[in-house]
Amino acid sequence: SLSDRLTATFKNLRGKGRLSEADVDATVREIRRALLDADVALPVVKQFTAAVRERALSDEVSGALNPAQQVVKIVNDQLVEILGGQSRRLQFAKNPPTVIMLAGLQGSGKTTLAGKLGKWLNGQGHKPLLVACDLQRPNAVNQLQVVGQRAGVQVFAPEPGNGVGDPVAVARAGVAEAVSRQHDIVIVDTAGRLGIDAELMQQATDIRDAVSPDEVLFVIDAMIGQDAVQTAQAFADGVDFTGVVLSKLDGDARGGAALSVAQVTQRPVMFASTGEGLDDFEPFHPDRMASRILDMGDVLTLIEQAEKAFDNKDAEALASKLEGGEDFDLNDFLTQMASLRNMGSIKKMIAMMPGAAQMREQLEAFDEREVDRVEAIVRSMTPHERTNPKILNGSRRSRIARGSGMTVTDVNQLMERFSQAQKMMRQMRSGKGMPNMPGMGG
Ligand code: GDP
Ligand code: MG
Repeated sequence: SLSDRLTATFKNLRGKGRLSEADVDATVREIRRALLDADVALPVVKQFTAAVRERALSDEVSGALNPAQQVVKIVNDQLVEILGGQSRRLQFAKNPPTVIMLAGLQGSGKTTLAGKLGKWLNGQGHKPLLVACDLQRPNAVNQLQVVGQRAGVQVFAPEPGNGVGDPVAVARAGVAEAVSRQHDIVIVDTAGRLGIDAELMQQATDIRDAVSPDEVLFVIDAMIGQDAVQTAQAFADGVDFTGVVLSKLDGDARGGAALSVAQVTQRPVMFASTGEGLDDFEPFHPDRMASRILDMGDVLTLIEQAEKAFDNKDAEALASKLEGGEDFDLNDFLTQMASLRNMGSIKKMIAMMPGAAQMREQLEAFDEREVDRVEAIVRSMTPHERTNPKILNGSRRSRIARGSGMTVTDVNQLMERFSQAQKMMRQMRSGKGMPNMPGMGG
């Protein structure tokens, strides 16, 4: 599966210090193969991998992440972006009723969705009316009536036994009924065929023109696979639509269709249908779908937390201070310790993360109480002492120990660790190749 392939690829990246072009290319090749296996359409795969490659090679890399995490994040961000970024809400009409029209192949889940949407909107205080415009199949009108009853919403249907009937006229009459009975939302169910069909596409277009919907939702079965692009394109060219509903996500489809449809039509996926029951329905969350496609939810959560913990502002402030020739002092040491405390909160999650052994060791050795001790000691120093640690002689140290409730040994140990950190900072600075900076010893 796609997730297995990506996991295997990322395993190869773990432990490497930085991303080389060869690393990125190897990863992109795997992502490409994996997406094709997951039935994502070829043009979509090409665009996707090109974008991932470009992002991975550009220097928008985060100091908080290791290379493997960075690639996961880039792939994930790219997926979320194509899937529509933020979840989009339904667009309501300024003058009710809001008309929502459903379109899609037969069996995609339109009639079921009419009930789900109706129930959901009803629960939000709306008063939807379902309109039965599928007059193609003998039982379709009755099916919507049953669904409406179960959903607890009213259904407008043509009188039975009136011949075939005109779905456009029914749609019009349905909206008129909604106006007179003060329904604020109309959901228009339409007919579909098993394949793309010019006649039915025209019928859907005629219904659309008759009722000017605020939303046209294209319903597509997530299991459709490679046919997703062709079907979506046909509906985009035919009736056109404002949003996509992905149905049957309770199956084991990885979501390749979502990616294809969203990319090819540039329309957001708005809802997900996840079963035959009327409550098996939810607004679509691009980020959740992306982690479903990646199947790496735990890792993504971890990445999010690590980025939060790593306060870029602090790091940048410290860097510019050091570059300005100032020395690393006890205030900086305290800031660093405080950011470690944030890392401590993700310690429990580290167990979920495959690889990254070095980071795990560091985190496991980290004791949050240690930060408390350091904080107590540094806070007992005067501002002058914090910026000039050299003046901390014996009598100052015993005063600080008393003030912070620690022993002199604790204070000495802290100063020892601080000296090491300071030395490291000086080395890093000289490693950056700034030999002419003022204030640099040696
Ligand atoms: P329509 O022809 O587009 O109106 O599709 P229907 O609403 O009649 O659905 C076709 C079949 O798919 C029915 O048996 C539904 O119960 C089933 N179905 C619809 N949505 C879902 C879903 O999200 N998950 C599953 N498992 N079945 C669904
Ligand atoms: Mg139907």
